[in-house]
Amino acid sequence: MSRIRIGIVGMGKIARDQHLPAIAASDAFELAAVASPHHRLEGVRHYADVAALLDAEPDIAALAVCTPPQIRYAIARQAIERGRHVLLEKPPAATLSEAAALAELAARHHVGLMATWHAREAAAVTPARDWLAGCTVRRVLVTWKEDVRVWHPGQEWIWRCGGLGVFDPGINALSILTHLLAQPLLLEEAHLFIPVDCDTPIAAALRLTDTQGAAIRCEFDFRQTGPPTWDIDIETDRGRLVLSKGGAVLHANDRTIVQGDDREYACLYARFAQVVHERRVDVGLAPLRLVADAFLRGRRTAVAAFAAAGEG
Ligand code: NAP
Repeated sequence: MSRIRIGIVGMGKIARDQHLPAIAASDAFELAAVASPHHRLEGVRHYADVAALLDAEPDIAALAVCTPPQIRYAIARQAIERGRHVLLEKPPAATLSEAAALAELAARHHVGLMATWHAREAAAVTPARDWLAGCTVRRVLVTWKEDVRVWHPGQEWIWRCGGLGVFDPGINALSILTHLLAQPLLLEEAHLFIPVDCDTPIAAALRLTDTQGAAIRCEFDFRQTGPPTWDIDIETDRGRLVLSKGGAVLHANDRTIVQGDDREYACLYARFAQVVHERRVDVGLAPLRLVADAFLRGRRTAVAAFAAAGEG
């Protein structure tokens, strides 16, 4: 079978770190062009924006949209309306309405559309879900803390409306949580800590429950120094499960069950190939809905300026 010709829109950190290697290793896709205002990729045709790429490259069947979220909807919409399949980096759009509109548009145009919740593809997540099947979850503590200067160097968009702030990584934890737990999650309380020079939070504390009354707490923080902490600790009627390193490692009742390799984007591209072949829409909104709930219900506290600390 011939490979699907794909273009990347937005040649930033995630495109280089993950999409390029995953496409290069894939049997299903071949990279045909890039659209990005400033950054080029040697040996690959380059366009300044998505409209120019779509005009010049009728044979490109799919696009991976790796831009900041604020402009994802407008880019994906153009591609879908011109009959192209679309892979949306997370979050799938800047708002729930935009994400829902893209899903409806893709179904109408009969093209494949997939939202990448990459953390769900981490090696220990499915084994953790299997372990939890049939358990009663009593308590959950999610600790998702990283140094923003290391993981998001110079990414000004993250601090602007629609950029999510600390929910940019925090939504990864929520994507795992909404995948692991069988019951729908409900946001009870949120506290957002917003630097005085930013639109979005640098830290957040959430209290959630599920429809069976589990006590769930999430602590998200961009101010961590040193190695990141990406852990989910779950207490159940069968004992304790700890998912660490962003979902790569699983301990259950103090025994190591999984210690996996990073194959998240290889798995995503394998799934996207299926979505393209079946012209299916695969856009789960549960993680984005919880983030929206936190912004709807959250109490805000102003904290020290981010840029004033020489880190903007
Ligand atoms: P980034 O390094 O800031 O890259 C974003 C890129 O988007 C920039 O390089 C910019 O290209 C491009 N861009 C801006 N406006 C554009 C436009 N109108 N048309 C085409 N391209 C445009 O950000 P990132 O870290 O890669 O994150 C991008 C998305 O991926 C975010 O939603 C993020 O949540 C998600 N993500 C990131 C990571 C990660 O580890 N970084 C992990 C998973 C998911 P130019 O440089 O050419 O101007």
